[in-house]
Amino acid sequence: MSGAGRLIVVGLGPGDPAMQTPQAAAALAEATDLIGYGPYLARVPARPGVVQHPTDNRVELDRARHALTLAAAGRVVVVVSSGDAGVFAMASAVFEAIDHGEAAWRALDVRVVPGISALLAVAARVGAPLGHDFCAISLSDNLKPWELVEQRLVAAAGAGFVLALYNPASRARPWQIGRCFEVLRGVLPGSVPVIFATAVSRADEAVTVVRLDAADPALADMRTLVLVGSAATRMVAREAGAPWVYTPRGVG
Ligand code: SAH
Repeated sequence: MSGAGRLIVVGLGPGDPAMQTPQAAAALAEATDLIGYGPYLARVPARPGVVQHPTDNRVELDRARHALTLAAAGRVVVVVSSGDAGVFAMASAVFEAIDHGEAAWRALDVRVVPGISALLAVAARVGAPLGHDFCAISLSDNLKPWELVEQRLVAAAGAGFVLALYNPASRARPWQIGRCFEVLRGVLPGSVPVIFATAVSRADEAVTVVRLDAADPALADMRTLVLVGSAATRMVAREAGAPWVYTPRGVG
């Protein structure tokens, strides 16, 4: 085993290269091996000699073990995620693999480089909806039971948090977002602003602001982040252009 191996887990940001940090770019420039979901690797500038290991978007733990094995063999391995690598992404899988894996992996030089997560990019597009307390919930029931998702939605919305909903829909999970709105309408006023933001910072970006009682689940796909306001969140109508959405800094 060579001592020179390293593993860097990098968040690439939401899409636009201008939203990738210089630290992420520096890590990518050091890599001998790149590991990640194919479409994310496609966003990394190609360099001669760098080995790309494209994967599908599942079996994150296998991907993490593969990365650790390469790093332990002396490679400089960069694992990429979109947004921030610690938000519903690869960084946890890497530490889970270390936690349960080979003792030698604990001695490896492992670093995490933060990125702009979708919730930050989306919030900036519409104003300041995350100005007060908020939480992030993944609607994917691949890694947890759906009942738990509903419990968390009710608890968080009921406690006044603005909700950032990741993974709202996919071809394999078409009904969850509709059910989510049903549940939230039982807890929140119908006037609460809901933001559908798809492919933010990319060429086909689409952002729509509606009221909860008019929220159409069909606006969400796997590239959408849905932000649901709290009762305190405000829409500021404008003659020209979309409304601003903000949550005041203080309540009560
Ligand atoms: N690590 C990522 C999240 C990965 S989960 C991050 O920090 O952003 C994948 C989900 O992220 C998608 O289903 C969508 O909800 C959200 N997402 C990622 N990129 C996005 C973008 N450019 N615009 C809107 N939502 C995005």
